[in-house]
Amino acid sequence: MAVCTGCSLLCEDIEVALDGGKMGKTRNLCRKGLGHFKSIYLDRARPAVDGKEAGIDEAIDKAAGILKNAKKPLIFGWSNSTLDAQKAGLELARELGAVVDDTSSICQGWIVEKVLRKEIPTCTLDDVRNYADVSIFWGSDPSSSHPRHLSRFSYYPRGEKRQRGYEEDRTAITIDVRKSPTADISDEYYRVLPGGDAGLVEAMISVLDGKIPRVEDKKKLISLVTNMKKSRFGVIFPGLGMVYSLKGRKELLDALVEKLNQSSRYSVIPMVGHYNMRGFNQTLLDQTGFINRVSFQDGVESGPEHSVMEAAKTCDAALVIGSDPVSSLPAAVARRLAGMPVVAVDPHRNLTTDVARVVIPSAASGLEAGGSALRMDGVEIKFDGVVESERMTDLEILARIKEGL
Ligand code: SF4
Repeated sequence: MAVCTGCSLLCEDIEVALDGGKMGKTRNLCRKGLGHFKSIYLDRARPAVDGKEAGIDEAIDKAAGILKNAKKPLIFGWSNSTLDAQKAGLELARELGAVVDDTSSICQGWIVEKVLRKEIPTCTLDDVRNYADVSIFWGSDPSSSHPRHLSRFSYYPRGEKRQRGYEEDRTAITIDVRKSPTADISDEYYRVLPGGDAGLVEAMISVLDGKIPRVEDKKKLISLVTNMKKSRFGVIFPGLGMVYSLKGRKELLDALVEKLNQSSRYSVIPMVGHYNMRGFNQTLLDQTGFINRVSFQDGVESGPEHSVMEAAKTCDAALVIGSDPVSSLPAAVARRLAGMPVVAVDPHRNLTTDVARVVIPSAASGLEAGGSALRMDGVEIKFDGVVESERMTDLEILARIKEGL
């Protein structure tokens, strides 16, 4: 069986038939996973230096030179790299005295940090399948982002204590600004106004305290909270909608979960997107005590000034691995990155490889290379490559760059 690295569910039941060494028919992939598998035949990156095609050795030498001569290099990406590559990357960062950040810094990082520091309770997706009776998709839409979430774990499957599945044994609740595809199939949908999540959490806590909430539709909210309270094993799956909306009032999530746990059992599993974002946060935490935004310039320190958004202003070179910040970050940050020598390591061509001084093509993890990663719930999943490839893995590329310093 193959593992799909198309999202942080890391589905382990993928069947692939090889046809003359190429990928043939597949089974069990969702549409997103199928696109991910097919992507190895599309838009591949090629080794390049200064916009011209180059040999791989030349590209690696040039990359090592850029990083060695930088006073303050930034190393960014990581969420699409294996655990071993992340560890090797941190060794390289220490040697270079680099600033290190990953995609969690601008999305799920603060909730993942609460989970990793055990400030809020969590559980595994296998616990969800076996025991959960209420799943709350808050600002998340797994039907679009993690298409097999509901069928493998949170709504449709029969589990040890949930033998009657979604028909009788499980309730799905979606809280979102719009009626998403997940909201469409949920038992309950509660519409929150953009930026209104903090107010909603406060209103929920009021109901849990037995007070009348200050919302327009009091009846609907009281009914929602009553259903949440009735649960024996509830799980909140926060997505980007909640992450951004609650960012200034992070303590409210702790307060709500604590309140719910006074009468029921509630856990939180952040709906991280990239297949090994949680792995990077865990690896960095184990090695430095921080989950992102770390500088190795002067010992080890972490702070907002080391986020990719700020580091792009102060760093003088960047190694971007398995990420496309030029297309995903705000234009001003992307422009600053594009203005410095960038080394891009990626299986595919993208806007970052287009502006990079050096491009080093890598094997696609899970498709052309093996390794391991942490699923969104922190469970380690090991995988092998599916097809043979001559491209080097992230791990091999990082080792070669380190040798060249
Ligand atoms: S849900 Fe995610 S991991 Fe599973 S098959 Fe789809 S893309 Fe791949």
